[in-house]
Amino acid sequence: KELTIAIDGWTACGKSTLAKALAKELNYVFVDSGAMYRGATLHAMRKNLVSRNHVDINRIIASLPEIKIAFKNNAKGKAELYLNGENVEKEIRSIEVSNSVSSVAKIKEVRLFLVKQQRIMGINGGVVMDGRDIGSIVFPLAELKLFMTADPDIRAQRRFDELTSKGEKVTLEEVKENLKLRDEMDSTREESPLTQVEDAIVLDNSNLTPKEQLTKVLELVKK
Ligand code: C5P
Repeated sequence: KELTIAIDGWTACGKSTLAKALAKELNYVFVDSGAMYRGATLHAMRKNLVSRNHVDINRIIASLPEIKIAFKNNAKGKAELYLNGENVEKEIRSIEVSNSVSSVAKIKEVRLFLVKQQRIMGINGGVVMDGRDIGSIVFPLAELKLFMTADPDIRAQRRFDELTSKGEKVTLEEVKENLKLRDEMDSTREESPLTQVEDAIVLDNSNLTPKEQLTKVLELVKK
């Protein structure tokens, strides 16, 4: 039977890395739900509806019908995000989008809009989805739920290395600050805050390599 696997946790804990590897191993669909929130945020940023210290909630809600979000695999088989037909995979990972995404993700209507699409993507099982509310809201009946955590300094360093290797100009301090702020906003917002559901298995990967982590989780899948 093809399972639904929900992976939630703190920012930059390697959720997507694990979800991707797991999906590849099991031949499941991988969905990075955070990319969808980032896509919606980019759309709002381009219309000047959100910046670091301003969010035009009403106009963001009104503009949701303009947004078409899709994932397409590139030549290497890596899923990339498309916003209204445009490949925005690189842009949605920028520090500017990272600094605004939690302000857009806290809007109830934005969440309803994206959760609906996420549920359709996983309707037949055989899916690994990572995010903040997958085990609690999107797929509360998922057969396997993981909650990921890692040491904040390790997370910041990993994310910093990832961003700079892609040519993004950031400082470690900026990354640290961004992760802290997002974790705070994502776990305290009114609408579907990041929650560790009771039936989730906690995975701390501070001292695990991606490979060790995958092996561990594959054992859980077999159970
Ligand atoms: O996973 P990632 O860090 O790319 O997610 C970006 C942001 O999108 C999170 O900080 C959070 O604000 C939002 N998000 C969310 N619910 C999800 C996935 C992401 O609110 N399921």
